[in-house]
Amino acid sequence: MKNRRTTPEERLRKRVREHAARLRDGDDPVEFWATFCEALLAESAEPGPAAMRGADGGSAASLRASRLNTLFLSLRTPVLLLDADFAVEVMNPAACELTGAADVEAWCRGDHAPVPLKELAPWLEGPLEAEGLGVEGVEACRLDVPVVQRHGERHFSVAVSLAADFPDRRTGYAVVLDDITDRVEGERELAGERNRVAHYLDVIGAMVFTLDAAGRVDMVNRTACRMLGYAEEELLGRDWVDILVPPPQRDAIRDCLYLVLSGQVEEEDERSFPVTTREGFRRMIQWQSQVLTTEGGLPVGMLLSGTDITEQRVIEETLAEKELWLRSSFVALGEAVLILTPEMTILDANPAAEAMFERSQADLQGEPVSGLHVNAGHYEDFLARSKAAFEAGERALFELPLKRRKGEIFPADQSVSLIKGDDGATLGVVNVIRDISDRKYAEAELKRSEEKFRRIFETIEEGYMVTDLEGTVLMVNPATCRLLQFEESELVGRNIDTLYRQVSERVGFREALQAKGAIRGLQMTARRKDGTAIVIEANAHQVLNNQGEPVAMEGTFRDITRRIEAERVLRESEKQYRAFFENNHAIMLLTDPKSERIIDANPAAADFYGYPIEVMRTMNLSQINALGRDEMFSEMRRSMDEGRTYFIVRHRLAGGELRDVEVYSGPIMVQGAQRLYSVIHDVTKRIELEQEMKLLATTDALTGASNRHQFFSLGGVEVQRAKRYDLPLAVIMLDIDYFKSINDTYGHAAGDQVLKALSGAVSSLLRAPDIFGRLGGEEFAVILPQTGIDEGVEVAERLRSTLAGLAVEVGEDTVTFTVSMGVTRVSPGDKTVEEVLNRADEALYKAKRMGRNRVVRG
Ligand code: GH3
Ligand code: MG
Ligand code: MG
Repeated sequence: MKNRRTTPEERLRKRVREHAARLRDGDDPVEFWATFCEALLAESAEPGPAAMRGADGGSAASLRASRLNTLFLSLRTPVLLLDADFAVEVMNPAACELTGAADVEAWCRGDHAPVPLKELAPWLEGPLEAEGLGVEGVEACRLDVPVVQRHGERHFSVAVSLAADFPDRRTGYAVVLDDITDRVEGERELAGERNRVAHYLDVIGAMVFTLDAAGRVDMVNRTACRMLGYAEEELLGRDWVDILVPPPQRDAIRDCLYLVLSGQVEEEDERSFPVTTREGFRRMIQWQSQVLTTEGGLPVGMLLSGTDITEQRVIEETLAEKELWLRSSFVALGEAVLILTPEMTILDANPAAEAMFERSQADLQGEPVSGLHVNAGHYEDFLARSKAAFEAGERALFELPLKRRKGEIFPADQSVSLIKGDDGATLGVVNVIRDISDRKYAEAELKRSEEKFRRIFETIEEGYMVTDLEGTVLMVNPATCRLLQFEESELVGRNIDTLYRQVSERVGFREALQAKGAIRGLQMTARRKDGTAIVIEANAHQVLNNQGEPVAMEGTFRDITRRIEAERVLRESEKQYRAFFENNHAIMLLTDPKSERIIDANPAAADFYGYPIEVMRTMNLSQINALGRDEMFSEMRRSMDEGRTYFIVRHRLAGGELRDVEVYSGPIMVQGAQRLYSVIHDVTKRIELEQEMKLLATTDALTGASNRHQFFSLGGVEVQRAKRYDLPLAVIMLDIDYFKSINDTYGHAAGDQVLKALSGAVSSLLRAPDIFGRLGGEEFAVILPQTGIDEGVEVAERLRSTLAGLAVEVGEDTVTFTVSMGVTRVSPGDKTVEEVLNRADEALYKAKRMGRNRVVRG
């Protein structure tokens, strides 16, 4: 019944019945029912509980109240109205249901007698009181209250506010309870989950961080704080890379995080890099990362977990180092080493073993070692000896022949030992083998080297001699005989003293040898059989017996007569060179070709460049060379192309003046060093002259325009170019009108002035590539490359009007003049510049005939 909403009809019926029960004897039935009906009417106009009833009863207000009442009744949210003493006056059906109150209608209407909240909802009264509601001005509050019900606990968010507008103006409270059970439970679950996760994160041994999308620490577990020495607050919100990663790795790690976070690269599973602890220690951490994403897959952060592998890394590195060391000694060992399995299969063989058995490592690996033995009997022997030694806990040492690839058998010293693991289990066998047939090789080698020595002894140019302590010659080599021009028989038995030229040298040699036991590079003069002398350089030492006592003297010597002579000649030539260098009027420099340092300069050079010789010797060629690298390079090319033996460059003098010079250079050895010897000609004057002559040969002296020859030669090139590349080209012929009369009127000199003025004006109107020439008299021509006929006519018009406006001052007179022009263009049929000029000339004469001072297109 509590849950079911009664229909208005049912309610009416019930009320009629209830009212009927109140009819007492003596009551006027009409009055009785009329009052009832009025009450009903009034109610139907203003339905709802008393608390909601408006005082005025106006129709808008009553409509509002009606709606509010419907709302009040249908609200799933429990609503209670309390009086100032916390007694419940009105409740809506939801509140009735919550409090378990019967007589819902009475409660809804506000007809129920007030019941203290304590009785109706003790769970709410306590907390409200605790809030201090109604005392010290607390008029409203919001609190969460749990309610234990039959079906379990429910949670309400309770909003209480002072309601002072009760119809009777009494103060009371409106209490609204929001069911937040689901939210509270969700939160509780979440908190539980969070706690479990936090607990898990705190107890696991790895460091765990979560970073936000900007790379700041969002969360960090206790392990990370402990390992890195930071308090949680010191890490939260900080840039993870900045605070933990050592500066050298920062950029790389940051880039990497950025790329992973922005989804540009797949995250790596694992990555090791160091971090710095709060105390500044570096730890090597192996990191695992995982991108945290929204449900939509958008990256919002990153989960990083790291394990400290510093110690592990150290161990690994030590191990690797040790292994490397073992491996390298295994490889480098001169003795052959085979690593065998306990079953005597070859696991590994070092290069010495490969060489010994003439088989590659790949070939040996996986093979039974028995294959290297001479036969089955030998192998049995090998196994038996090894086993016996292993049982005694020793290494087996024995001599047993083995077999190379091609069947060659060789005697071998063998050592066999066990490799045992930490637990004592056999891991393998090491078989070290030494080929003892090498001893025979050594003997053979010795013999060979003796032969070699003998050959050397006989063939070398150097003399070799052995004498006893008194100086009696015991042995000489053929070179000694050759050098001293004696027969061997004449020398052996002779005293060495007879071979010296000077007694002092003989004594000095003997004494030095006795004092020091050896002499090197001593220069002496020896006497030949015919009495002539040769200069020798000798090395000698005492030959000692086993007791360390001198028993003989042994020496080598060579003839340095020629070298001495060469040195003398060199000294002479150097002297000559110096004289030549110093007294020459030509400018000469000696430079180091590598550094370009000036080693020496002659007085002529010092004069020319304007520096003292001592200063020049401290300078570098770059200080006098005025050409840039590129210019220098192109000059070298030019020189090579033209087959010249010199370079034309520009040198700067001390005063800053530039000179054109020709440099003739050649390599030269000076005191053992490679030098560059340069002779410099100042050709500034000549080059100036050449340029002047070139100008004279190509320009017209009076006007400065190209002369006829030059004009035709430049013009010819342009015409050919235009034809080849199919470019437009215009040609103008120009002739002064009535020039004769200018001469006649003002004189020849005035005519010349006019020609000059014309040339100046035309030149200033043309472009750089245009060619302007005086073909003779008062006749000029212009070639306009890359110019069409229309444009050419335009240029001609411009020239014509400019020249017509030109006033040439000659003494007292002002001379004006006009010109006539013919313009044409190069056409495909033209072969030479003359042909084109002829056409322009025809046009020019047409212009003359048409009255002059005009341009005609031809
Ligand atoms: P037009 O061309 O208009 O038919 O009449 P013009 O008088 O200019 O004709 P012409 O070609 O017969 O005259 C050229 C004169 O130019 C003749 C010659 O004396 C003079 N002349 C030639 N070269 C020079 C020179 O270098 N200086 C001077 N002053 N006169 C020169
Ligand atoms: Mg003329
Ligand atoms: Mg003329």
